[in-house]
Amino acid sequence: MCDGLIHQLSSSIRGLRELFFPRKCVVCKKFLAEDEWDVCAACLEGLPMTYQWDIVQNAAFERLARRFEVQDAASLFFFRTESDYRSILYGIKYGNRRQLAVRMGELLGRQMAASRMFRGCQAVVPVPLHPLRRWKRGYNQAELIARGVAQAMGLPVETKLLRRRRNTKTQTKLHGAAKTKNVQGAFAVDLRCAADLQQQGIRHILLIDDTLTTGSTLAACATPLLAANFEISCATLAYAGQ
Ligand SMILES: [Zn+2]
Repeated sequence: MCDGLIHQLSSSIRGLRELFFPRKCVVCKKFLAEDEWDVCAACLEGLPMTYQWDIVQNAAFERLARRFEVQDAASLFFFRTESDYRSILYGIKYGNRRQLAVRMGELLGRQMAASRMFRGCQAVVPVPLHPLRRWKRGYNQAELIARGVAQAMGLPVETKLLRRRRNTKTQTKLHGAAKTKNVQGAFAVDLRCAADLQQQGIRHILLIDDTLTTGSTLAACATPLLAANFEISCATLAYAGQ
């Protein structure tokens, strides 16, 4: 009886809130149904998925394998600047859409869990943000995506293994070699954490970032991890042209 009342109250409060602040789909901006979150069912259905988790030597893998020794790689969907789907990434990176980051991570993780690839991954590690940028944004979007991926794959998330040694310029406005130079040497491995993980038998890390563009950020993360004897696989939400 009491539960029923609370449920009724909370759904009336939700109803009132939606009357004043109606929830809209991040992609098409149409109003969401009560059981929809962030992205409407039609837009989710139309998400331009890469299906890279079904192709061992896919474009994401090839792009990264040119830079470092990578086991498996995949992105969830194609990023095009002219597509409305870019709003998913903008929302996650700049719009405080934390729940969306976790849910998109889960969607990616479900594909990977059902795939023949990524079987060797033992822990999920997000690309770290510099503490100052994290403080300004209030969260690290890669960490939220990693939490969703890890949940779907039944793996632990390890946020202490990698840290950012220096704040870098945003990669968005840089190109090619400038991107590589900007992040080179920007990440370091916490040796104590690395030893702890390896003692537990964890040697294969799944690195997570929001977008794969040139691959320079993932390569800069992989370098100290490979030097510390880890194997690396990578996954991102979006796959962008270079
Ligand atoms: Zn929509």
